[in-house]
Amino acid sequence: MSLIDGLGTPEPSWQAWPGLAALDNFDLHPLPASAVVVAPHPDDEVLGVGGTLALLRTAGVSVRVVAVSDGEASHPHSRTVTPTELAEIRRAEQNIALGRLGLGRLGLGRCEVHRCGLPDGHLDRYEADLADTLSRLLDERTWCLTTWARDGHPDHEATGRSAATAAGRTGARLLSFPVWTWHWAQPADPRVPWSTARRVPLPPMIAHAKRHAVHAFASQLEPLSAQPGDEAILASHVLARLTRDYEVILL
Ligand SMILES: [Zn+2]
Repeated sequence: MSLIDGLGTPEPSWQAWPGLAALDNFDLHPLPASAVVVAPHPDDEVLGVGGTLALLRTAGVSVRVVAVSDGEASHPHSRTVTPTELAEIRRAEQNIALGRLGLGRLGLGRCEVHRCGLPDGHLDRYEADLADTLSRLLDERTWCLTTWARDGHPDHEATGRSAATAAGRTGARLLSFPVWTWHWAQPADPRVPWSTARRVPLPPMIAHAKRHAVHAFASQLEPLSAQPGDEAILASHVLARLTRDYEVILL
């Protein structure tokens, strides 16, 4: 059984847990020369660390996005949108979202995104290739932010492992972030390394920009159509766990 079946742990349960509020804050200083965020699917980077990326960018750090897949497998049973069409939609949504976070190198909606085009749902077959690609983009002055290698989604875990390999080779600092962990884990869950978890508080302007960015992912937030197979992926109870006024990073 998948870890991400059902409704998952509701956000009020997380908010009621004192352990989450008690996490130490993450210190962005000393700042890295650059940051590379590695997203298995278009939206993971914004949902997981969009606010952190905006803070880094505001502080003058150059931020690059590595889009590992185009997210074409989010609606495998759709009868209205093909995987090729979905990939195109999701690439465009990601560009708009990053622009809303101030990450557009050439203005709103335009940003430097390194697109790997690996197959959504099968990233575990390409771990070595992805590690090689990331090794060329990282060095010891770079932070590499990516999905936690035990996040509970096979693509997130494969990406996390590839990034760990590349960070180990290059001396880049690896920072992981949970996405689906908030779904399957419980407060104080022993499967989560809470002792290495840190909070990144988001100032109101940044938290607002993140929510605005998240709403660019219309193909995930709303049904593609009323047909079966076109249901929304990021229902409001999922979104609630990912649009707090802080983000959590695992060291
Ligand atoms: Zn994902």
